[in-house]
Amino acid sequence: MEKKNVPELFGSKVFDDRIMKARLSSSVYNSLRKTIDENQKLDEEVAEAVALQMRDWAIENGATHFTHWFQPLTGVTAEKHDSFITPSPDGGVIMEFSGKELIKGEPDASSFPSGGLRATFEARGYTAWDPTSYAFIKDHTLCIPTAFCSYSGDALDKKTPLLRSMQAIDKQAKRVLKLFGKEVKYVRTSVGPEQEYFLVDREMFEKRPDLVYTGRTLFGAMPPKGQELDDHYFGVIKPRVTAFMEDLNDELWKLGILAKTEHNEVAPAQHELAPIFSTTNIATDHNQLMMEIMQKVARKHDMVCLLHEKPFAGVNGSGKHNNWSMATDTGANLLSPGETPYENAQFLLFLCAVIQAVDDYQDLLRLSVATAGNDHRLGANEAPPAIISVFLGDELSGILDAIKNDKPYQGTEKVIMKLGVHTLPRFSRDTTDRNRTSPFAFTGNKFEFRSLGSSNSIACCNIMLNAAVAESLKQYADKLEGAKDFEAELHDLIKEVITKHERILFNGNGYSEEWVKEATQVRGLSNLKTTADAMPHLLDKKNMDMLIAHKVFSETELHSRCEIMLENYCKTVNIEGHTMVDMVRKNYLPAIEGYLYSLAKTTSLMKSVSDKVKCEYEVSTMEKLSGLTDLIMASDLKLEEALEALKKCPDIMKTSEAVRDDVIPKMEELRKYVDEAEVLTSEKCWPFPSYGKLLFSVY
Ligand code: ADP
Ligand code: MG
Repeated sequence: MEKKNVPELFGSKVFDDRIMKARLSSSVYNSLRKTIDENQKLDEEVAEAVALQMRDWAIENGATHFTHWFQPLTGVTAEKHDSFITPSPDGGVIMEFSGKELIKGEPDASSFPSGGLRATFEARGYTAWDPTSYAFIKDHTLCIPTAFCSYSGDALDKKTPLLRSMQAIDKQAKRVLKLFGKEVKYVRTSVGPEQEYFLVDREMFEKRPDLVYTGRTLFGAMPPKGQELDDHYFGVIKPRVTAFMEDLNDELWKLGILAKTEHNEVAPAQHELAPIFSTTNIATDHNQLMMEIMQKVARKHDMVCLLHEKPFAGVNGSGKHNNWSMATDTGANLLSPGETPYENAQFLLFLCAVIQAVDDYQDLLRLSVATAGNDHRLGANEAPPAIISVFLGDELSGILDAIKNDKPYQGTEKVIMKLGVHTLPRFSRDTTDRNRTSPFAFTGNKFEFRSLGSSNSIACCNIMLNAAVAESLKQYADKLEGAKDFEAELHDLIKEVITKHERILFNGNGYSEEWVKEATQVRGLSNLKTTADAMPHLLDKKNMDMLIAHKVFSETELHSRCEIMLENYCKTVNIEGHTMVDMVRKNYLPAIEGYLYSLAKTTSLMKSVSDKVKCEYEVSTMEKLSGLTDLIMASDLKLEEALEALKKCPDIMKTSEAVRDDVIPKMEELRKYVDEAEVLTSEKCWPFPSYGKLLFSVY
């Protein structure tokens, strides 16, 4: 077997620190590092020098074009390629790339979603280089990670608010650390997103218009075998999938993406890939790239990678786990329990900041993962419920409880705890207790937010998480900065936060009926089941106030985002609905009709040969199927009417409610009848590959 040199491969297509150090003069390099590490403004000369080296490096590595690579609100990345060529006087061309071209681009913004911003502002937008995320080469193009704004400065993308939210938490966390006598250069949040996906055979995929148009199956009866044997989870990986994974790893490594763990997931044909964590904005760029490259590499292997949250009914859907933490420039993890009681006090305060943030802004976290696709998962007993709560594990919960009640704590180490900062107990990392049903779980030195859908950009939830935690930290710093007796006031503050926010803590089974009741009726937690329910809360006063105060969003940006997300929800379901109507009329009904015809013909032929044959099977099947075709046609018409009625809704809020209340139930009804007909109809007559073929055809 050919030997692979992974260290050599890793980052070979990235203009990373190693390349910068080697190619840039030390003054240019140092100045650029200051911009990257300390957010200092980049001067033009430095940009010019960087551009020159970037161009040479890119050309040496096969690039002919460059692009400003950005993340508009479509949820996927965008790029417009320009070649490096410039005509030279001798009639040939030279390869040019200037500092200006590196720093700023001007793509036409008019075709990207802007949620009303376009009406009041100029259609033009600009992209601005994000030097904190390294440039890379993809398919002969130098890609420069950029933020995307309108000319009036409104963010039209996901990166801009993410960077702003990172600044907000950096500012407040540094204030809090100062109280503990720590001066740090910066505090950054880090993320390791675990990505789930399905692989299906390309030929099967292409035969299904629902998969092609919507990324999920809109019809399909369960095959005799699903995931009930639990034989896929961590199972032996099939050769075709192994070949795909190897290829995928190579491509990701070349781009400096720390692809680390890969395994089969619960559902047949479902897999997961997790990278090693990195700084949030880089992790976000990398996750977008990872999703793109998964799809490309799958095609090379004659498969299709499905990133939809629920490609198949009846088996698990795909999510994404956002492992999140905060660390200083020296690498100290602020969510890691410390060695000394004093460090533990600091840890507890940061822990409290997260608990309070999740409680105060449950709705923001919920809506940050809300899409039509993810609505199929949350609360469906395979993913966390739509109710947001925090899992801490028994040990940490016990400690918080002891602090709240001024009681001694009997931990695993049997240390009796007397209160007062210096006597907070030492506790071990509780990593054993894994509660899979919790949407927001503490896992030893990080929190794992598990409600994300597999196709979500991780920017959205991290924007909200960073901003909300920044708000708690701000409140703590405001309070403690003037403290006369820091330790006593710190202790009181922690106690107060625990008391006030303990309703969000839940270690039990999040899938149970009792939890839904307790959470909503006793604890008053919100249970926002669909995107239509969740998204409007973006405009709640408390949420807008907080996001605006931390300069994460402006008021106009919030209005535009709410509109875009709701529009996206409505459009997605609308496309699904029309696809269903179409498939029923053009394929399903004619197919059933064909089978009915052959049954009828057989029956009359048989009866003409002998009057003793009863044809019970033929006749009863015909009766059932004929009844179903009537029901299918009637439901199809009702769905079509509901879709038509959407056009008359006065605004996007009303449209999204109609989608939720009228369209989706009608889609479900139609599907039910078609799936019933599927199991009665000969496979030869059925127009599309079955679930069995889709789920079990890759070896
Ligand atoms: P599992 O959840 O399966 O136990 P791990 O705990 O090893 O797996 O990590 C899951 C993800 O969490 C990985 O992407 C890992 O890099 C990431 N992770 C680990 N530590 C941190 C941290 N401090 N901040 C953010 N992500 C982290
Ligand atoms: Mg995990």
